[in-house]
Amino acid sequence: MAAARGPAPFWVVKCPDCSTEQTVFSRPATTVACAVCGATVATPTGGLAKLRGELVRSVSA
Ligand SMILES: [Zn+2]
Repeated sequence: MAAARGPAPFWVVKCPDCSTEQTVFSRPATTVACAVCGATVATPTGGLAKLRGELVRSVSA
């Protein structure tokens, strides 16, 4: 049972505009904006977030 296949509570996402990496909840209730430039990095879908940035890795809190 590989850990990478399970649901990951948090994701490290790279901002598509400024390449800053930040940790976001994988099931956000609201749009997640980059802390540096304000670009949208993840949007809520009711389930797993739709990412605009690149998923760098999962973080199982
Ligand atoms: Zn940014």
